[in-house]
Amino acid sequence: MLPIHSTKDDIVSFIKSFDVVHYSRTRNHLKGGVSYLSPFITRGVITLPEIRAIVLESFTATEAEKFIQELTWREYWQEVWFARCDDIFSDLRYSRHDWVHFDIIQSIINASTTIEAVDDAIATLYETGYMHNHARMWVAMLACNVGMGHWYNHSRWLYYHLLDGDVASNTLSWQWVAGTNAHKKYITHQSVINACSHKKQTHSFLNQVKEEVGEGMIPQSLIATTSFLFKTKYPKSEDYNYNAHSFFLYCPWTLNPDWRRGQEGERILLIEPRWFDRFPVSDKVMDSILTIARIHVPNIKIVVANNSDIHLPNQSKVFSQRHQTHAGWSGIVDKVDRLYPNVTGYYSSFFKFWEICQNDTST
Ligand SMILES: Cc1cc2nc3c(=O)[nH]c(=O)nc-3n(C[C@H](O)[C@H](O)[C@H](O)COP(=O)(O)OP(=O)(O)OC[C@H]3O[C@@H](n4cnc5c(N)ncnc54)[C@H](O)[C@@H]3O)c2cc1C
Repeated sequence: MLPIHSTKDDIVSFIKSFDVVHYSRTRNHLKGGVSYLSPFITRGVITLPEIRAIVLESFTATEAEKFIQELTWREYWQEVWFARCDDIFSDLRYSRHDWVHFDIIQSIINASTTIEAVDDAIATLYETGYMHNHARMWVAMLACNVGMGHWYNHSRWLYYHLLDGDVASNTLSWQWVAGTNAHKKYITHQSVINACSHKKQTHSFLNQVKEEVGEGMIPQSLIATTSFLFKTKYPKSEDYNYNAHSFFLYCPWTLNPDWRRGQEGERILLIEPRWFDRFPVSDKVMDSILTIARIHVPNIKIVVANNSDIHLPNQSKVFSQRHQTHAGWSGIVDKVDRLYPNVTGYYSSFFKFWEICQNDTST
């Protein structure tokens, strides 16, 4: 796993040596050959087309297909968010009427669900800020489809701890598992969890046949709940030059070191409380944002304020990059490079989107 203070050269070298064939074969296992690139992708340090281009220098399109498909999941969720905006924060496609509560299951927060692979994954999340994709699916399944807790606050809890926290990928994946953004709920069996984690757990509440998991009484360990009480601790704002010739505004998801590189002006990372109060992050996540910003954008100023409250004299010299968290920022908004720039708008399923992407001749 690349350390969070890696430079862009470190990241590029890592991708050059990344084995996408091994990835395709092993990615479902908790110890499989996944890339752990997500914090750098989420923060905008490296773009999806950059990664694809590096991978295709060493592998054929067929060998790289699974990896590129996973990158495309990310692009897909971003596009759903752009198209559906705040709709993604309520049940997107289907409503469920069997929620027992809208809080968070206590044993999920305490890593004591009794499912060993899940409890280990939650402990690892607290230690590293990372959780494997399958473990994320199992946690969401326990919370929503076995414990019958609504996905919204559970998803905010996970997001709070993830160094790769991305509201679109996180919220929409929770909804996918919960069956509010897919035609059925995701359910799996203890034997599958064991196979993907090298555990040998038997007699757990996930040991019934697959169809019965989540159909009976809520297991004792998933009954107690707690409210969502997490808050963001903000860093101190730094002074910036109000009289600068130009302003380059970054948000925590657009920290691209190559964006308008070499152009003169004040570079500011805006941490907007209107967003971070709604979707709080842990101290570890905030530290990672500041570290990444300082490494990849020299002389960047950290400013904690909503865009509407900062003073920038000349709006024609204010630049930013497209991101859904700040769709209302004024000034010149640059596009972010995409894998399939011609495929836009809302597709109700990933595989419909993927099919159209395969015919995008611009790639
Ligand atoms: C409940 C739940 C919550 C999630 N929350 C987030 C989140 O907040 N931020 C986030 O980046 N991903 C999220 N994911 C998707 C996925 O789990 C992570 O992107 C992946 O585990 C990151 O590890 P990696 O970089 O080693 O991935 P790899 O498997 O090496 O994949 C490479 C890159 O492809 C993208 N990717 C891979 N799988 C997915 C996927 N299923 N959905 C979207 N993008 C994907 C990521 O950018 C990832 O870094 C979530 C998935 C679930 C089920």
